This record gives sequence, structure tokens and C-alpha cells, in this order.
Amino acid sequence: MQNELNAFQTFIDDILIRNKSILDQTTKLQDACTHLCRNISKSATTCGCISINAHKQPYPPSTSELSMDDLKSLMSTHIDGTLCPNCQELIEKEMGRVLFYLGAIANTMDLSLSEILEHEKKRTELLGKFSLR
Ligand SMILES: [Zn+2]
Repeated sequence: MQNELNAFQTFIDDILIRNKSILDQTTKLQDACTHLCRNISKSATTCGCISINAHKQPYPPSTSELSMDDLKSLMSTHIDGTLCPNCQELIEKEMGRVLFYLGAIANTMDLSLSEILEHEKKRTELLGKFSLR
């Protein structure tokens, strides 16, 4: 994974010419995030391969007696159904764009995505269920 992320950042650095400005990169990332969320919505509203049935999450009064698995099984994604191949392709494409511009921003800021991933994983592991992400 670490090598793949490093190679991805090198690849981005090699081919990114037009959107070298941090302003272009941040707005392109926002655009990709917007399109990703729109494609998820359209999977339900236009295609119909999934439906989104949102309701209040059943947070228990005290989480201290529940295991992580208990908590996970209580929470819902609010999604019924599975993505059709067309919607899956569109969502994967936008996730790819999100990763691309995130990598571009990391390059511009001289940051390593693999190090960021490692730090985030450690932080989340330390907090355990109290991170509740
Ligand atoms: Zn679909």
C-alpha cells in the first residue's frame, strides 16, 4: 500500500501540468467531491439501483457495555440494494478524481499520503470506539 501511494503521488507529479496552482487543485478536489456525492444521490434518484432510507440512528444511552461489533451492528448505512455496474463505474471514477487531487495537494504541500494514512490509522486505533467515526 505504501509503495502504491508513493508511486501514485509520483505519477501525479509527472502528469500534472495544467492544475499546478493550489487554487486549481483545491477547487478541483471540491468539484470531484461534489460529483461523487451527486453520483451517489443519482444512483437512488435517477437509476434506482439503490434506495436511501434515512432515519435516526439508534444510539444507545450508554456505549460502555457494548462491544465495537454490537455498536457497528446497531448503526445503519441507510442504503438498501446494491450499485448497478453503471453507477459503480461512475462512483469509482469520481473517487479516483478525489484521490488524484488529494495526491496533487499532498505533492504541492510536500506531504506523503502513505504517512498521512499511517498517522490517521494510529490516531484512530488509539481512540478506539471513542473516535466514533
Ligand atoms: Zn444504478
